[in-house]
Amino acid sequence: MNTKKLGFGLMRLPSLDDNDPSQIDLEETKKMVDTFIERGFTYFDTAWMYCGFNSENATKEVLVKRYPRDQYTLATKLHSGFIQTKEDRDLIFNEQLNKTGVEYFDYYLLHDINTHSIEVYNKLDCFHWIQEKKNQGLVKKIGFSYHDGPELLDKVLTEHPEFEFVQLQINYLDWDSAGVQSRQCYEVATKHGKPVIVMEPVKGGTLAKVPEDVEKMFKECALEMSIPSWAIRFAASLDNVMMVLSGMSDMDQLLDNTGYMMNFEPLNEKEYQLIYKAVDIINSTITVPCTGCAYCVDGCPMRIAIPKYFSLYNADLQEIEEKGWTPQGEYYANLTKTFGKASECIGCGQCERVCPQHLPIIEYLQDVANHFEK
Ligand code: SF4
Ligand code: SF4
Repeated sequence: MNTKKLGFGLMRLPSLDDNDPSQIDLEETKKMVDTFIERGFTYFDTAWMYCGFNSENATKEVLVKRYPRDQYTLATKLHSGFIQTKEDRDLIFNEQLNKTGVEYFDYYLLHDINTHSIEVYNKLDCFHWIQEKKNQGLVKKIGFSYHDGPELLDKVLTEHPEFEFVQLQINYLDWDSAGVQSRQCYEVATKHGKPVIVMEPVKGGTLAKVPEDVEKMFKECALEMSIPSWAIRFAASLDNVMMVLSGMSDMDQLLDNTGYMMNFEPLNEKEYQLIYKAVDIINSTITVPCTGCAYCVDGCPMRIAIPKYFSLYNADLQEIEEKGWTPQGEYYANLTKTFGKASECIGCGQCERVCPQHLPIIEYLQDVANHFEK
């Protein structure tokens, strides 16, 4: 099987309803899958709760029913937020087999190991459980995705050498950031001899919409290359990275990504230097480093559209000084007709407990409310 380094993340699929990600546009997704496979790519990554719990169902329709099993590689995950008992692990796993329609998963992950979730995974004996799934032939390779610091990662990999790969958040903005510490985590995984699958290479779209200065710099260097290509190539250029996942949500993105990843060229020294400059510029402009993963949304009792609000807030702060007027305020007002307002947050903390970026969401929502609702 071909081992091109780009994986199709099935978490931001095209939707028939902007406010409901579970309404996946299956026909458009089928075309995207066909193009992806035609261009020689094989890796697909889904999870229990992606696209409002509908990504795995869509995977069956767009991929599993339409391609022989040996033409693709499928990954999915068990998330600590949805298991209360040991029985729940099997209920979810069996339902995942049912939803996707496969008889085994090529890659299966414990989803988002961090200081809090590891207590659940330990309490419910998930480390033995996932190994057992492999022993039964229901999973080919076991691993975990990870959103915490290098010390805990080192401890998990030391205690659990049975894991075969690690999925890490790596992008050029987080590479040396104090919060995410991508570089240190990558180095820990490499030290343990575990290949890395990269998630969030474009940081939830942040690195697709870079400040004008950065865009100009990238375009002057290579006019034909898209802005996100710099981010994906950064991640793919790391020797110990076996796959870079991109959550592609339309055909244009897919054509662009697959275009330069078909015959992948690692970054050269001049390109690295431009990226380091870009990091300095971007860091001076982003206010809320939210990746838009939406893990925080489903549990919010006030139905607050947290990542949408943060995205509007970031965009507004980037534009506001120069243009005097921006459309973000109108988008915000429209969204609050369907979702709770930022000011309606009751501070329950549910969102902060599940945020992989450990963002102080409650505090940021107060800023959003002050900004858009005053
Ligand atoms: S703290 Fe606020 S935003 Fe977070 S889940 Fe509770 S109500 Fe929703
Ligand atoms: S606030 Fe955190 S959990 Fe919510 S979308 Fe942003 S990064 Fe994801």
